[in-house]
Amino acid sequence: MAPTGNFTEAQAAAVKTVTDRFIVTTERLQKIAEQFVLEMEKGLDHQGATVAMIPSFVSGRCTGEEKGNFMALDLGGTNLRVCQVNLLGGGEHTIRQQKYVVSEELKVGPMRNLCDFIADCVDSFLTENGTGGNETLQLGYTFSFPILQTAINRGVLKQWTKGFNCSGAVGKDVTILLQDSFRRKNINVNIAAIVNDTVGTLMAYAYKHPNTTMGVIMGTGFNASYYEDMGKVKKWTGDKNQEMVINMECGAFDCERRVLPMTIYDNKLDRESINVYQQYYEKTVAGMYLGEITRNALLDLVDQQILFDGHSSRELNRNWSFETAYMSTIEVDETSDLSDTGHILESVLNVASTTLADRQIVKEICQAVGLRAARLASCHIAGVMKHTGKVGEECIVAIDGSLFEFYPNFEKNMGQALSEILGEQARSKVKFDLARDGSGLGAAIIAMIASKN
Ligand code: ADP
Ligand code: MG
Repeated sequence: MAPTGNFTEAQAAAVKTVTDRFIVTTERLQKIAEQFVLEMEKGLDHQGATVAMIPSFVSGRCTGEEKGNFMALDLGGTNLRVCQVNLLGGGEHTIRQQKYVVSEELKVGPMRNLCDFIADCVDSFLTENGTGGNETLQLGYTFSFPILQTAINRGVLKQWTKGFNCSGAVGKDVTILLQDSFRRKNINVNIAAIVNDTVGTLMAYAYKHPNTTMGVIMGTGFNASYYEDMGKVKKWTGDKNQEMVINMECGAFDCERRVLPMTIYDNKLDRESINVYQQYYEKTVAGMYLGEITRNALLDLVDQQILFDGHSSRELNRNWSFETAYMSTIEVDETSDLSDTGHILESVLNVASTTLADRQIVKEICQAVGLRAARLASCHIAGVMKHTGKVGEECIVAIDGSLFEFYPNFEKNMGQALSEILGEQARSKVKFDLARDGSGLGAAIIAMIASKN
């Protein structure tokens, strides 16, 4: 990225110093993918590895012929979603859903309050949609935090991520806690399965495309799942003669900081996050964090008196005030005076005044952070393909999440990085597909499989 003509020499040099920190070379990408394979294998061998590689208890492939009425819940990001899914067979389905906002207070309060809130949402959904007959409804609970799963409907919370921190939940079975709330409130719903959103995304996409290889989330958080041959999973003591979906919990990759290129801006974010020294990979890729990394880099330039004439604003000084969605708007801003960028900086973030050079600098920083995220996000896909020996074969990766859906060029940049790791021929066999809101459908399918068994 050559600085454009409007910059002074001092600005150009300072901006280059910052953007250089976000460069991930081909060599580095390859090294990260190699390390990822090693970490996957550790996770498959024993409990307690950095990349947890959690068996999901979802085995067998979808046929698309599954049928019936099921409920699904999705907790784990910005909203709580309650869904009712009718599987029609032939890969077709209908879905009714309602979103509810989970307040910041609930996210960090007692777990019992959160469960009661979820139960109330289900209750009001059933009242509004008139589905509360006499029959017990089977529900798939998409709970997208690291859990230790012992059965399809049993999962003990290991730790919170993504800004949640409810008390009285870590070490407890979260399906039992929620089922208790349903019982207390006389809601006739049975939690048939606990589902990670990556696994739900994989199953949902597989309902129409049975040979889907991976399910990936790139939204508030970042994680992925894939089909594993359980004969290769040393820590697995159940039936070895089956395929099962593994929830990788790959956002935790490299908390030892061996290969990820962490900058001072990443370290500052980590220190100020509620899960310090954890989820490094997620923190370089996911929507929850990219805006904050960008904000840290911009403030560094403000402090050097390179940007905004050395003046920030109260808004911009506030942690997490720079949303990742702003980066998307700024990156697509093609107006000659970057007026959309100016609007965000001046009207939303209350920066007193910006020059065209300021706006160009902000755009370059956004591009650097966004490009790094997309490049790093391809490494785990390369890792899974290497581990499963599928490099060069057809590979369908179902991806859900607003970051992947809306961030400009994210898919293109991921593809470019993947070809640098695997070669263009192998990359051309990999298909990234948007699987929007797949986790509701996926959880319903998994609830169906579970209640049938
Ligand atoms: P969740 O992950 O909570 O299920 P989403 O997939 O919608 O939900 O992801 C929400 C996250 O995506 C937000 O935290 C935000 O960081 C990011 N995001 C939302 N809109 C955009 C956008 N236009 N461009 C880039 N990132 C976005
Ligand atoms: Mg989601």
